[in-house]
Amino acid sequence: MKVLIVDDRPDNLYLLRQLLESRGFGVDEAVNGREALTKLNQQKFDLVISDIMMPEMDGFELCHLVKTSDALRQIPFVVYTATYTSSKDEALARSLGASGFLVKPTEPHDFLRQIEDIISKAEKGEALPHQPPAEEQTFLRQYNERLIHKLEDKSLELEQKNAALEELTRTLEQRVRAAVKDLEERNRELEAFASSVSHDLRRPLRGIAGRAAILMEEAGATLNPEHREHVERIINTAQEMDGLIDSLLSYSRLSMEEIALRPISLESAVQRAAEQISARMEENKAQLNIHRPLPSVRAHEPVLVQVFANLLDNAIKFTEPDRPPCIEVSASEASGRVTVVVRDNGIGIAPEFRERIFEMFQRLSGASPGHGIGLAIVRKAVERMGGTVTVESKPGEGSSFILNFARG
Ligand code: ADP
Repeated sequence: MKVLIVDDRPDNLYLLRQLLESRGFGVDEAVNGREALTKLNQQKFDLVISDIMMPEMDGFELCHLVKTSDALRQIPFVVYTATYTSSKDEALARSLGASGFLVKPTEPHDFLRQIEDIISKAEKGEALPHQPPAEEQTFLRQYNERLIHKLEDKSLELEQKNAALEELTRTLEQRVRAAVKDLEERNRELEAFASSVSHDLRRPLRGIAGRAAILMEEAGATLNPEHREHVERIINTAQEMDGLIDSLLSYSRLSMEEIALRPISLESAVQRAAEQISARMEENKAQLNIHRPLPSVRAHEPVLVQVFANLLDNAIKFTEPDRPPCIEVSASEASGRVTVVVRDNGIGIAPEFRERIFEMFQRLSGASPGHGIGLAIVRKAVERMGGTVTVESKPGEGSSFILNFARG
């Protein structure tokens, strides 16, 4: 007993083959109606089990061609379908001459029972031969009706899926917007809090520093060296804390400040930053080489000046003792973006710290002369201006801070 199974899905073919072979049937396969027809005309089969929806030639057409062929119409034809499952689909299949109409998935036991039933009826000559519709046109009309019906079903299903998807996207967008708003709100609260704490700290701190300075001025001469050193420490520590509060305030101001981007000359921003720290540059015999001309970038001027001031300041701070700082500032343009490089000849930064140094309070050595906020300010400032900042470095040979901005 030889069965031809027709299905475009390999997993369906595999399952059917296993099932039928387990009952001793010989099995051959075809992946669409056209291939099935070729095989049917070449070999002898006792049964065809065919899917309906397949490329090239579907199961309805195959059934129609088998049942209108004098040579093939005796072969029982079973439709096994997952998509065309309505009673009208079954009616069409039956009117074409199908002996069975099974809906996927049918339990293996039930499936085999029905197949065997169809075969035994066929052997007894029951229900066969079938009388196909007299006119080809009748078949075509009914067939088209089923196809159109299926298309309508499919397009309705797609519309429903689409609507559900749109609804899901809307809900997700709303949730993301709400989460971002919430986060921004919390951030603002946190920054406002940091800013007010910093202000509140500053007043008593200045009180301490002021009184220590008066003490030093009025009674310094009468203090013994040890006591004088204590008072000097108080003054220095207070100044250091004042600096820290300044940095914290700059950082929190950056988040709250309105940033208006407009074309700013890089050259003048670097120049102004250098002026801000000129005392320290002279003190350290620092050399600054600006590779002119530098292009303009889209930025907010005071913030851009602060970025360069922090970078130049670090380039002077983190140097080898016997090597005077030498800083190069250069820029290049490509595709509407400007890349600025601030290169120094300082101590350099080990690879594992190159990302961390941009985080708040990250200093690489406890003895380093800062608070670990300078580069956090640089990154936040650059990002608020739509740019990026990274660092490349060779420990012992210097570092290059690479900034990227939109062309101004
Ligand atoms: P700080 O207030 O300590 O300068 P920064 O945030 O500016 O804080 O820098 C963080 C750390 O990154 C510094 O403590 C230092 O270890 C390292 N660093 C920053 N700039 C340089 C540089 N140009 N060369 C070497 N190390 C640097």
